Amino acid sequence: MNSFRFRLTTMMIVLIGLSVLASGLFIGKTYKENYLDNLQQSMVREMKVVLSKTDWPSGSLEEQYAYFTNEAQRFKKVTGERITFILGDGTVVGDSDHDPKSMENHLDRNEIRMARETGEGRDIRLSETTKSNFMYVAIPVDPASLSSSPMLRLAMNLGEVEASISKMWMVLLLGLLVLFIIAALLCYRIAKGLTRPLEQISEVAKQIKNHQYEARVTGPDKGEIGELGQSINAMAASLQEQMRQIRQNETQLESVLENMINGIVMIDRDGKIVLMNQRAEEVLGFSAKEFEGRHYTEAKQQYELAQMIQEGLELREHLKEELTFYFPVERLLELHLVPVFHAGDEFGGALLVVQDVSAIRRLERMRSEFVANVSHELKTPVAAVKGFAETLLGGAVNDPEIARSFLQIIFDESERLNRLIGDLLELSKVESRRVPLHFSPIEMSGFIAKTIEVISAEAAKKRIILDMRVEEGIYVEADEDRLLQILMNLLSNGINYTPEGGKVSVSVEPLYKKQGGRLKQEGDYEHIRIRITDTGIGIPKKDLPRIFERFYRVDKARSRSSGGTGLGLSIVKHLVELHKGTITVESTVGVGSTFTIELPVLQ
Ligand code: ADP
Repeated sequence: MNSFRFRLTTMMIVLIGLSVLASGLFIGKTYKENYLDNLQQSMVREMKVVLSKTDWPSGSLEEQYAYFTNEAQRFKKVTGERITFILGDGTVVGDSDHDPKSMENHLDRNEIRMARETGEGRDIRLSETTKSNFMYVAIPVDPASLSSSPMLRLAMNLGEVEASISKMWMVLLLGLLVLFIIAALLCYRIAKGLTRPLEQISEVAKQIKNHQYEARVTGPDKGEIGELGQSINAMAASLQEQMRQIRQNETQLESVLENMINGIVMIDRDGKIVLMNQRAEEVLGFSAKEFEGRHYTEAKQQYELAQMIQEGLELREHLKEELTFYFPVERLLELHLVPVFHAGDEFGGALLVVQDVSAIRRLERMRSEFVANVSHELKTPVAAVKGFAETLLGGAVNDPEIARSFLQIIFDESERLNRLIGDLLELSKVESRRVPLHFSPIEMSGFIAKTIEVISAEAAKKRIILDMRVEEGIYVEADEDRLLQILMNLLSNGINYTPEGGKVSVSVEPLYKKQGGRLKQEGDYEHIRIRITDTGIGIPKKDLPRIFERFYRVDKARSRSSGGTGLGLSIVKHLVELHKGTITVESTVGVGSTFTIELPVLQ
């Protein structure tokens, strides 16, 4: 039971108990008084009867002794009560139970004294002989002269009376007890009725404290307690709404953090890692689970980073740094450390924003390298043209033979320059995907035959056999000009890097998708494979991965002498990719190379 209810009930029960006890005592006492008063009245009446039946002879004392003793005994026989006759001076002259001569003067007895004063006296005493309480009632024989009148006294054994009184007490106590129990039960019910709404309110308050904001008070809605309940309900509702909003904000913030491309680490003013998003884990290489709540120095990271954080926490300024991390992979990270201030300009720690700039820096490096390469490639022919022109101007022009050969060189170099610039423009267009492709179905055998036709003169110069193995009726959807450009590039490379008398062959085959381990029906091919194979000098293994890079040439001198720009394969690769295809190369030095292109049939 709730302690408040317990206290209230106990208090009420004690109060009721006390009042029941008090009234019990009062009732008991009044009852006893009344009983004794009534007894006294009837004893007085009895004595008055005796008086009316008794004469008061005026003989000698001896005669009076005899007379009154006789009278007393006679009377006792009728009533069963002790009677005493006392003279005005207190001398006992007759007693129903004792010899009056042996009895002392009775003037000092309480009942006699009272009777002499008020005309009726009463006393209750313990009788020495019977060891029980007696009530003595005395009245004067002559009420007109109280102080000198003889007295008549009646004694009544109170044993019976007391038994009846104690029975009365018993009944009274029992009644009171029943009354008390009923009152206590009533008290409990009343206390319960009073405290139950309060208990419910306190229960709801407890639930709210334990974050159960959906708890509501359902008790009465009137009175002070009702108002209190309603206030609690309103408070719970507002808390619930606020919590909902906080949770919503939290999830929003979380999703923002988790989907950010930058890594975020929050460090409090004491240097503890408070929060860390997934991107930060990826770029920094340590897990949030392990380090959230720990000091930043405990995270295994670069010394410079720890230094930067320490500096940031001390200076409380925005710091920016670029650091190379080597584990687990090498990467370049741009780090921003931003100080965080809470309301009231209180320093709250720092926010570390991490961005992986490896790719950006690599691109930047590639661009500047490309510019350097281009300048270098352009400088060589320009220098040649300039040099030979100078020599001619310096007098060589007068020797027609030398002049002719120099002019030829100048022509060749400017031609090369032209090709280089053409290739560069082409590459830039293809790379930035600015070339609009016009797709159309191409029948491969006819198309390859036409291509070989174009290049056959060049091959014939080196006595190189051009071979083609293409079945009729293989179609592919492609931009015809671009596909021609791809094949021309690869074929002329084949011719270029194959010694005289060699062979360059082209084959085209459809690629069927396997279904359930079996090839699908003919005609259902999804890709075609074009192979250009030569019996040329081949490409060393170490150079294979790089030959599609811009300006990459295995043998610079040979490439240049053959008029190559080192851009052909890069252009080819981009064009193939524009067709959503792939290009690969296999080669053995001294045996030959095979370039394989796979293109989807439908774009
Ligand atoms: P280039 O204009 O120099 O030929 P490419 O981009 O076409 O430039 O080729 C890059 C380099 O790849 C060439 O310089 C050459 O070293 C090598 N290469 C290309 N095709 C072949 C081939 N069929 N056989 C041997 N080497 C080749």
